[in-house]
Amino acid sequence: MAIRKIRTEEDAILRKKSRTVEKFDERLFELLDDMAETMKSADGVGLAAVQVGVLRRAVVIDVGDGLIELINPEILEEEGVQCSLEGCLSLPGKQGYTLRPKTVKVKAQNRNGNWCVYKGSDLKAKAFCHEIDHLDGIIYTDKLANQEEIDKYGETEE
Ligand code: ZN
Repeated sequence: MAIRKIRTEEDAILRKKSRTVEKFDERLFELLDDMAETMKSADGVGLAAVQVGVLRRAVVIDVGDGLIELINPEILEEEGVQCSLEGCLSLPGKQGYTLRPKTVKVKAQNRNGNWCVYKGSDLKAKAFCHEIDHLDGIIYTDKLANQEEIDKYGETEE
C-alpha cells in the first residue's frame, strides 16, 4: 500500500467526470488500498479516486464505523435535510455549510463486482453525497447553503 498525493482545488482533474469501473482486478484493489491509506493518513472520512488523479468511479468512506468501498455508486433514495459544515481533503483548511439529505440509500459494487446497498444518515449520508459528487466533477463549494437556508435548517449537526 502507498499514500498517494491528494490533488487540490487548482488541479483541473477535479472538474472532470470519472469513468465507470469495468475491470475488477489487481489494479483496482491496489487503487482502493492506496485510497484507504491516503484517506486515513489525511484524517478524512471519504476519498474519491479522482482526488488521487484517477478518473474512475471509485470511492472509499470511513466515518469511524468501518471502511466502505463503493464502485460505480448511485444514489437510490434521499430523505430529509441536514445543514452542516462540510470540508474536503482537496480544499485543505476550508469549510462551508451545505444542505444534504439526512439519509441516503446508495447502490454500489464492491471490489469483487457484486452489487450491494448501503444506507447512511447524518455524517455518513453527507460523505456518500460528497464523494459521489466528486465522480461527476462536483465540489461541495458548488452547493454552499445561503444564509436563508442556514437560518431555516439551522445546525442539524450529527
Ligand atoms: Zn471532497
